[in-house]
Amino acid sequence: MPKILCLDPGHGGYDPGCVGGCEEKDFTLNVCLDLKKALEARGVTVVMTRTSDVSPSGTANVQEDLQARCDISDQAGADLFLSIHGNSGGGVGTEAYIWPGGQAATIATDLVNALAPIMGVHGEAVKDGGPNGRHLAVICGTAAPAVLLEVGFLDSSDFAKLAARLHDFGDILAAPLSRFLGGSAPVVTPPNTVTPETLHAALEAHTTATDAKVAEALAALQAQFDSTIKALITELKG
Ligand SMILES: [Zn+2]
Repeated sequence: MPKILCLDPGHGGYDPGCVGGCEEKDFTLNVCLDLKKALEARGVTVVMTRTSDVSPSGTANVQEDLQARCDISDQAGADLFLSIHGNSGGGVGTEAYIWPGGQAATIATDLVNALAPIMGVHGEAVKDGGPNGRHLAVICGTAAPAVLLEVGFLDSSDFAKLAARLHDFGDILAAPLSRFLGGSAPVVTPPNTVTPETLHAALEAHTTATDAKVAEALAALQAQFDSTIKALITELKG
């Protein structure tokens, strides 16, 4: 049975995150909405900490906001927590943060490797986000193994790549995540494809339209017949 991913678009609402070519909160939401769709097509259950430009806690308090993200993951019984971010500080490349030695190391490495052909890697690919490292709230505060992925730098030459490939990251990240979470091959429904449902609806509409035309023609015939009979009766009476 596929596992549950808690997907966390970094920042949001009152908190724009870092600001480079765009605001980080918009970048993270775009990537996460695409990624959610791509994973759901593979049968993976995705719980989001936010799906619009809001703070998950509903408050403008960073600690409450981060705690709310952890709580959403724990309440969903997530098997993996993934926080998506955009970096700043003028570097280039992808990097990930995890609790060292935990289960997240494998998937974090896979995610960085999936992005590397486009983004390159920033320093040591997978770094310590735990208590002895950057002590990141979502890494330390979630029951599930957690990864914080910095896709690339919004304030460097990375930004051109991030903008150009914005809607590719969902698919790119979905493949390794799906393997990790026990998803299936993607179910792709191309747009404007005939499915039993669309065919049935089309036939129904056609039948209704045809029925209306037949009824209209019958009514016209009936009226014609009536007037002919009336004329005959009048003629016979006369
Ligand atoms: Zn961030």
